[in-house]
Formats: sequence, structure tokens, C-alpha cells
Amino acid sequence: MMSASAAPASLLHQLNLTPQAALERLAQAVRNVPDYPKPGILFKDITTVIRDAELFKLALELMAESLAPLQPQYVVGIEARGFIFGAALADRLNAGFVPVRKQGKLPGATHSYAYALEYGIDRIEIHEGAIEAGASVVVVDDLLATGGTAAAAAQLLKQLEAKVLAYSFFIELDFLQGRKALDSSIAIHSLLHM
Ligand code: AMP
Repeated sequence: MMSASAAPASLLHQLNLTPQAALERLAQAVRNVPDYPKPGILFKDITTVIRDAELFKLALELMAESLAPLQPQYVVGIEARGFIFGAALADRLNAGFVPVRKQGKLPGATHSYAYALEYGIDRIEIHEGAIEAGASVVVVDDLLATGGTAAAAAQLLKQLEAKVLAYSFFIELDFLQGRKALDSSIAIHSLLHM
């Protein structure tokens, strides 16, 4: 006899972890690299999180939890580490994935925007027509520092007339107050605060 299969239990549940304990495990796995890419920058290296299947899944599960109720049509991921979290989240959210890339990487006609980084200046681009006017999106990156990158992505999305429902970051560096650079009407979901 066939029995109806139950929805798979969350990894949090399977591991018998509280959300707080999961966040602590994730935070401990982030590697601090001093003076990279420039003296004075404490780089938060997420490769030590995503190399661990269980931790990567936990991060995605917790990030997806806050985004799922929004039912975005697209996840916009910012090059390059925003692709890692963004593409996996798009799959979980049954949303399309749209890349925001550094200058000169996208083959088609683009919208382009220049902005200041914590450690330099950059220009990011999105394909023209990648998102229909009025479509709902969430913007994903690994880390919110000064907020320049995320604010620039919002500028590109404005040019496409997309509706930004939320930002989602794996890490927010609270001391840099990057959220002040972002439109206060857009929700910001940061898994870890450092
Ligand atoms: P920002 O525009 O200042 O918010 O910088 C955010 C972007 O730069 C993200 O794509 C991050 O991956 C990267 N970034 C900035 N500061 C750091 C840092 N301290 N550690 C790791 N990545 C960083």
C-alpha cells in the first residue's frame, strides 16, 4: 500500500538545533581574513561555510524561510558570492535567477551603474529586459558592508521598473551601517550580524 509521503523535515529539525544554535554554528564557520584585499579590511570568508554540506543547507534553509512568504518572481544575485546563495535560494523559492554582474561580463545590452565599495569603485550591470516591469524580486548577496553594492543593484532594478520586495544577506557588518544606504521601505533580512 502506498502512503502519502510527508513533507521532508527541515534540517534544523533533523539536527535538533534551535535557530539560535544554528546561527552560532554558522557564525563560527565564517573565516576572518585580516588585511584582505587591502590593509585594514577584515574579510569575512564564506567558503569555509559553504564547503560544509550541512552548514550550507542550514544557511539556505534559514535565508529561504524569511523570503518564502514574499513569493518573489525573481531572485537577483550580485556577482560573485551573491550567485552562490542567490541561485540556490531561487531554486528553493521556485523563482527565476537574474545575475547582476561586474562591468563587461554580460553579453547582451545592459543597464549599468557605478558605485563606491568598502575597498574601491565598481560598476555593475544587468541585462536589459531581464525582468519585466512590475515583477517582484528579492536581492541576494553574501554580505552587506557599506551598502553601496546593494543600493546600486536597487538602482539597476529601478531602471527595469522591477518591484524590490526585500534584500537578503548571509552576513551584515553592523558597524558599517550599510542599511542606512538602502531604501528604508524595503525589508532587509540578514542571517548573521557581525
Ligand atoms: P558594500 O557595497 O560595501 O556593502 O560591499 C558589499 C560587497 O563587497 C559584497 O558583495 C561583499 O561580498 C563584499 N565585501 C565588502 N566588505 C567585505 C568584507 N569585509 N568581507 C567580505 N566581503 C566583503
